[in-house]
Amino acid sequence: MAERALRGTRLGATSYENDRNTDLAPRQEVAFDCPKGHRFTVPFAAEAEVPPTWECRVCGATATTATGDEPTAAKVKPPRSHWDMLMERRSVADLEEVLAERLAIIRGQRGADIAAPPASHRRSA
Ligand SMILES: [Zn+2]
Repeated sequence: MAERALRGTRLGATSYENDRNTDLAPRQEVAFDCPKGHRFTVPFAAEAEVPPTWECRVCGATATTATGDEPTAAKVKPPRSHWDMLMERRSVADLEEVLAERLAIIRGQRGADIAAPPASHRRSA
């Protein structure tokens, strides 16, 4: 144990100080423009996906990237409605068919309610 504790590095051989400027990952500076005219840059890792908006460092408003790329509507997928999902599975012709089927069943049920009791009852009465 004691021997292990004494085994160290030689004085002055290695530096434990971080060389802060040597091993930085590649970066990109992205400029943002705020609607109130403030411009600032935010450093991102080179491979990072740059967000289209950033909170303004001066006033807190939503700033957009100064490259002129407005966040396009095409990038944001509109939420699918129930109707959209339905139309992915069925065509209008299919739906007409299903509707006709359901209506026939509903009308049939209504007809049965209004109609006289079943023949088996009629005979005994
Ligand atoms: Zn601002």
